[in-house]
Amino acid sequence: MTAQLIDGKVLSARVREKLVTRIKSSMRPVRLDAVLVGNDRSASIYAENQAKTCAAVGIDYRLHRLPEGATYGDIAGRVLLLNTEEDVRAVMLHLPLPAGVDVERVQSLIAPEKDVEGVNPANIGNVVYGRRSLVPCTALAAVEMIESTGIELRGARVVIIGASNIVGKPIAVLLMRAEATVISTNKFTRELAALTRTADVIVAAAGVVNLIRGDMVKAGAVVVDVGINRVVDADGKSTTVGDVNFAEVSAHAAWISPVPGGVGPMTVAMLLRNTVDAALR
Ligand code: NAD
Repeated sequence: MTAQLIDGKVLSARVREKLVTRIKSSMRPVRLDAVLVGNDRSASIYAENQAKTCAAVGIDYRLHRLPEGATYGDIAGRVLLLNTEEDVRAVMLHLPLPAGVDVERVQSLIAPEKDVEGVNPANIGNVVYGRRSLVPCTALAAVEMIESTGIELRGARVVIIGASNIVGKPIAVLLMRAEATVISTNKFTRELAALTRTADVIVAAAGVVNLIRGDMVKAGAVVVDVGINRVVDADGKSTTVGDVNFAEVSAHAAWISPVPGGVGPMTVAMLLRNTVDAALR
């Protein structure tokens, strides 16, 4: 079997098209306010790209830059100010924060209804309770990609590799809500291959190159690769790969998402969708 591609570029383009229509037909402007602290190069590049992505769908992007020396009080003050402003409906926090500033403490200050990355514990709690909430974008992306294959999730056996608060755990909860049989695994899990071989769906979110090999996947499975790893090949060239050995696994699976071009672009699309949901709610 040669797997079909779960193409994150195609799926995310469809999501963005729908957002453009929603934004055009809405009476309210849609705006995203992002807080960026310090001069981290990757965060700045990410913010620049985000500004372009937002502009392309009609979202007004406002970047609030705070200096490298900003304290917890400065950052918290800015977040709390954004919480109170009526025109601000979608807020996100770029990482990293300066050394010594507790990221989770700042994230928990973002008003839950404006928290488009779904990082406030209140939103994670709402995911568990199945209440309407803003769900972490990567988890939403992974689940949308599984659903795009048309697989019946109710009763399906899903093995999730990785159990972080922002990726693996919310994916597990979303799939439990879909009434799948969910097995959550982590770096202490014994005999991972014995579990993955029984899975109808595998979600790899560990950040370990080549963790999922061909002989760990049953014929016809759906495999979604969340991992992002930088590897340097023999010629010294740096490339991005996931946690799944794509060549081996695509010989067994029915569906597989690539890295790059899989969960990454879909995560960006989910952030835009959360922004539109928060703005138009
Ligand atoms: P994390 O380091 O917080 O958590 C990793 C999890 O994987 C832990 O639960 C750990 O126990 C588990 N794990 C590690 N080695 C394992 C092994 N050998 N077997 C089973 N489980 C193992 O990482 P994270 O923030 O959850 O991110 C996971 C991966 O997803 C990383 O590669 C990250 O870069 C990527 N990521 C991608 C996106 C995206 O948009 N595509 C977004 C966020 C994270």
